[in-house]
Amino acid sequence: MFSRIVGNDSVKIILRRLIANQRVPASLLLTGDDGIGKKLFALELARSAICLAQIDGEACGNCSACTRSASFTMPDPEDRDAYKRVIFSSHPDVGIVAPYKRNISVDAIRHLESEANFRPYEASARFFIIDEADKMNDPASNALLKTLEEPPETSHIFLTTSRPDSLLPTIRSRCQVIRFAPVSTTAIEEYLFHHLAFSHDEARLSARLSRGSIQRAVSLNVKKFRQRRDKMLRVLTSAIDARDQVELLKTSEELNDAKNKEHFEENLDTLQSLIHDVWLVSIGGHPDRIANTDVADQLIKLAQWASPSALSAWVNEINLLRENLSVNINRKIASDALFIGMTARA
Ligand SMILES: [Zn+2]
Repeated sequence: MFSRIVGNDSVKIILRRLIANQRVPASLLLTGDDGIGKKLFALELARSAICLAQIDGEACGNCSACTRSASFTMPDPEDRDAYKRVIFSSHPDVGIVAPYKRNISVDAIRHLESEANFRPYEASARFFIIDEADKMNDPASNALLKTLEEPPETSHIFLTTSRPDSLLPTIRSRCQVIRFAPVSTTAIEEYLFHHLAFSHDEARLSARLSRGSIQRAVSLNVKKFRQRRDKMLRVLTSAIDARDQVELLKTSEELNDAKNKEHFEENLDTLQSLIHDVWLVSIGGHPDRIANTDVADQLIKLAQWASPSALSAWVNEINLLRENLSVNINRKIASDALFIGMTARA
């Protein structure tokens, strides 16, 4: 049932109406940030359409069609061949095409095309979800375009993406688009507290740091996060207060050592969120809007010493560094330069 998915209530209304009026389009494009439930919604839409005991445009959740279509065994992420095909749920009319590493192969789309031309086995229509559709390469995109141009009568194709601009415009124009908003902090906090047994404190912190992504909130390991964030808080304190270059270079080295290397980008994100909090207070924002609620006192103190323009310049520097990561820069040199630059401009 849609009500089991957190957030995006206006989307729920649209989807229920599509089902109730039997007007589910042949091709739908679900867009919005990562981790806010687009795939869940796409699956739920398919499930509602094939449910044997539908209630007001909703899947009942209990019938055999509902339970089987909810059951997917996703292949091993290293099993390249398995991703060259549609991955079917336990229901033969609901399947997913998903990327292998960073690519959706043309083979998978061709398999989808041939499957979409079969009549449904049990339901009145077949449903195919292409998850992270922006990961289709050119041959895959062109193959899909062919299918969308001549849509099989009894098949529906739902594409999900956080980067709709990366899709071929001709694919976009053939799909009805449904946009998802980030999930509200309060909705995420309540969900974590009531359904996942997070403590009040943890639920609040995770929700604030999730940037509207339920997936990010759920996967945050609060204890480990706090340990890493302490390090980033030291960076910020060293830059703003002590202007301690030796300490900063030491931290830069730590961030790049074997133990911490894989968390490099995550650490940048964390540093950025701390800087954002300090900046927010420094321009007179209400402390209630601080994301890192549990260290608010320290951040408010730092805000007294830092200049808002320096803080926003740091955020830009971090964005630049992040962009450069994809071109294989030397991370150690880059983070040294970032930190030293911060003491110069604090
Ligand atoms: Zn059902």
